[in-house]
Amino acid sequence: MSFRTGLGFDAHAFQEGRKLVLGGVVIPHSRGLAGHSDADVLTHALMDALLGACGERDIGEHFPDHDPAYEGISSLVLLEEVVGLLRERKYRLVNADCVVVAQEPRLAPHIQAMREALAFTMGVEIERVGVKATTTEGMGFAGRGEGIAAMATVLLQRPET
Ligand code: MG
Repeated sequence: MSFRTGLGFDAHAFQEGRKLVLGGVVIPHSRGLAGHSDADVLTHALMDALLGACGERDIGEHFPDHDPAYEGISSLVLLEEVVGLLRERKYRLVNADCVVVAQEPRLAPHIQAMREALAFTMGVEIERVGVKATTTEGMGFAGRGEGIAAMATVLLQRPET
């Protein structure tokens, strides 16, 4: 087996009048995140980690934010495409681990649903997908409630060729 790791990071600003979607789950909140797609910052960080691990560039290259095809699209649909690309190249996800950085809203009640949605979309068991949430104790843009950031790391394996 050969192993590859990947790392992803993303941040989006809050915007009034939008739904808050994290890890494919709609989270009840007064504001959502600004973005061309559904602005699912967690799924974006995860996709960048997966793309990086298999030697690709990033979601900006695969799904350009000036392409009307991706306007308002569910990021889970994009994640499915990324997973298809991994499969073509014989990669399997060993595990993914993610952190959402948000001062608000409280995410603990939604962690399990996010893990389930991401694991289901990637076609893996839930225990292979970690999602954690933290505040920054009021510091920085997340702490001031200006937006939400997310980080993800993944490990892929494939048979040695
Ligand atoms: Mg993004």
